[in-house]
Amino acid sequence: MKEVLRACKKCKLLTIEKTCPIHGSEKTTEEWSGFVLVSEPSESIIAQKAGIKLAGMYAIKVRM
Ligand SMILES: [Zn+2]
Repeated sequence: MKEVLRACKKCKLLTIEKTCPIHGSEKTTEEWSGFVLVSEPSESIIAQKAGIKLAGMYAIKVRM
């Protein structure tokens, strides 16, 4: 079975779960495109601009 990556509508974190591991109840969606890998949020300009505080993979565009 192929695992589909989903993006949280709130923080854009990519996960295989149907709910965000950070926001819990926040639903995730398969409607996203592009992603950025953040390993050191405190040293990443992209992460700071996007308000990302946790390391992980994040979608660039998420359809709300
Ligand atoms: Zn989230």
